[in-house]
Amino acid sequence: MSSVPVYDVAIIGGGAVGCAIVHELTGRGLKTVLCEQNSQLVQEASAGNSGIVHTGFDATPSTIEHQCLEDARILNKTIYNKYNLPFEERGALLVAWNQDQMSKLPSLLKSAHNNGVTGARLISRADLLRREPHLNPAALGAMIIPGELVVDPWLIPITLAHKAWMQGSMIMRDCKVLGGHLETGSHWLLETSRGPIKSRVVINCTGLQGDLVEAINQPSPFEIHPRKGQFAVFDQSAANLLHSIILPVPTERTKGVLVFPSVYGNIVVGPTAEDQTARENPQVHPKVIDELVAYAHFVLPQLAEHPVVATYAGLRPATQTKDYHFIVDRDRGWVTVGGIRSTGLSACLAIARRVANAIPTSKPHITYPEQRPEIRRIADDTVEMDGVSYHLTHPLIRLGFPNKMAKL
Ligand SMILES: Cc1cc2nc3c(=O)[nH]c(=O)nc-3n(C[C@H](O)[C@H](O)[C@H](O)COP(=O)(O)OP(=O)(O)OC[C@H]3O[C@@H](n4cnc5c(N)ncnc54)[C@H](O)[C@@H]3O)c2cc1C
Repeated sequence: MSSVPVYDVAIIGGGAVGCAIVHELTGRGLKTVLCEQNSQLVQEASAGNSGIVHTGFDATPSTIEHQCLEDARILNKTIYNKYNLPFEERGALLVAWNQDQMSKLPSLLKSAHNNGVTGARLISRADLLRREPHLNPAALGAMIIPGELVVDPWLIPITLAHKAWMQGSMIMRDCKVLGGHLETGSHWLLETSRGPIKSRVVINCTGLQGDLVEAINQPSPFEIHPRKGQFAVFDQSAANLLHSIILPVPTERTKGVLVFPSVYGNIVVGPTAEDQTARENPQVHPKVIDELVAYAHFVLPQLAEHPVVATYAGLRPATQTKDYHFIVDRDRGWVTVGGIRSTGLSACLAIARRVANAIPTSKPHITYPEQRPEIRRIADDTVEMDGVSYHLTHPLIRLGFPNKMAKL
């Protein structure tokens, strides 16, 4: 009978958060395994996002989300530069379309400054239209938020997981964690669809399944309430119509629908915020897409001359509260990173650092080599990284990913 493999840490979930965690923990010298139930990494919430790295200008102060977004501002760019991951600092314009929205800009500016986004400022209608000459001239004014980035939301987590794998960590796909218990001797014995795994610490970062997986350790203190976001993507021929990310004045419940450029030059409109019960396979609805496209045409009237080339939808792992659920159960060796609702791409590196700091180790750290991955798109849906094939799971990126990427 083969013996059960033993790890320092088992990470359950291979989305943006799990991929960032395996990268960080591997760097801390820990023997790590990542278990992902799907055949591909980055296939759930992390494959349906907008690809924007937020500054956190509108985060609720003193929340974990706020702290992570603050930490992420420097961390993200350091890693993107280290691995030559494409990003563009487009900045955002939060546009007021009526007097009521204009009256809200000063308090939004105050929050942005309180949140450390000190470069934010109000600009006049004339300045706004000078910056974005194709914007609907009905706009009255705006707040400019420098520092908001557009990125490749697929390549970031895949590169992080790939780098960890190159350093010897196990990435197990088609590996669903079905249950587990804490054995005497203080190791978890996890039951998975690929056999048992032993680990000193377990990390639950299972996104839309977060509360169900949490029940392996304790009755979950949070419930997942999936929130769907739909998008329409315009042809790259429209790329010159827009430079910045156009945000609406937010409501209490949602940041609202954005019109923004992708890092590969598509203009995108979305996401919606629709509560639902199903935790998988989000579908787009033609009526909603029509409304999104009409809104995009309002914001940028010349978009009407360019075709919509794709639509997609994603599910946010929202919960009954806004903040992340970051729980460290030291006695039982279980860390929960749940309900990473709408900023997980932006915050994943900072979340990973926070998780690593909760797992002290005396093992020597490793330094990831500066060597950047060699990346080639070898088929419509497949990218090869250092000779290893990865399925392009993010619809926005599948559309725009360059056919050849010279040595990244
Ligand atoms: C419409 C939309 C727009 C968004 N826009 C942005 C944005 O612009 N910027 C930003 O920062 N964030 C954005 N987000 C949020 C961001 O995408 C999420 O916060 C992030 O993807 C959450 O990552 P995760 O790793 O926690 O979850 P997931 O990506 O869902 O990963 C969890 C993984 O766990 C796996 N899993 C579950 N159960 C098990 C099990 N039992 N065993 C093994 N594996 C399991 C799942 O298969 C999945 O792969 C957006 C999200 C959506 C949906």
